[in-house]
Amino acid sequence: MQKTILITGGGRGIGAATARLLAQQGHAICINYSSNQATAQAVVKDIQAAGGQAWCVAADVSQADQVQALFAFVDRECPPLYALVNNAGIVAPYARVEDMDVARFQRVFATNVMGSFMCAQAALKRMSTRHGGAGGSIVNLSTAFVKTGAPGMAVDYAASKSAIETFTIGLAREVAAEGVRVNAVRPGLIDTEIHAAAGDADRANKAKDFVPMKRAGRAEEVAQAIAWLVSDAASYSTGAVVDVSGGV
Ligand code: NAP
Repeated sequence: MQKTILITGGGRGIGAATARLLAQQGHAICINYSSNQATAQAVVKDIQAAGGQAWCVAADVSQADQVQALFAFVDRECPPLYALVNNAGIVAPYARVEDMDVARFQRVFATNVMGSFMCAQAALKRMSTRHGGAGGSIVNLSTAFVKTGAPGMAVDYAASKSAIETFTIGLAREVAAEGVRVNAVRPGLIDTEIHAAAGDADRANKAKDFVPMKRAGRAEEVAQAIAWLVSDAASYSTGAVVDVSGGV
């Protein structure tokens, strides 16, 4: 029977590339997005045109009621949930910590940390053998910024992703005997629209010389690592964090 992979923030960037790759591998795909319906629908149409099953659902993962509604949609419309890719994430315009207001910190942590936490919780209640599920897999998105803390740019964002790495390790061990693997990927400089949100749309080009491989990565390259961690090929990996960063 076909099973569903839910990808938060799957309408653009790394999430969209992951949706396309996992659909090619034969999975039913439910992508979530925040406000950009057109791009999410385009991903769904591409998957359907290639003969796959796909849905898209608007939901702000930082809001508990919207996360509940998202999973209720999956329960109602999709084959059983097999995996969650906690990909939705935001970065605010680059700034020094002393110039960041509390609302910004709250927004970044609510989306990147609480959003991933609430989605993981809902997924576990469907996948864990402890709750009568058939097992499954969760992949979280970190960032290579956890290694430096992103001073002068995005210390809030880097700290939120450090929380995600610790969450990954702890949750992995908590549910390891319940059929659910929990891993993370740690992308470096990847060429997506997230850099425009940070106020530097050309960052993938400008910062490439700081990368040992001297280039930015592509969303499709991160998708390959996510797809491996989701798959049974990674059956003995849990609590792992995989760098996809060109050597950073
Ligand atoms: P992106 O191109 O900016 O796409 C972000 C996606 O997340 C969009 O689909 C967006 O929806 C969705 N989203 C944002 N806030 C949301 C919310 N509150 N609820 C639901 N969906 C939300 O980002 P990306 O570069 O692909 O990044 C994906 C993940 O990789 C993020 O967690 C990011 O932190 C991480 N990452 C990226 C890089 C990089 O260099 N690109 C490096 C390291 C880690 P809409 O389309 O509706 O706005």
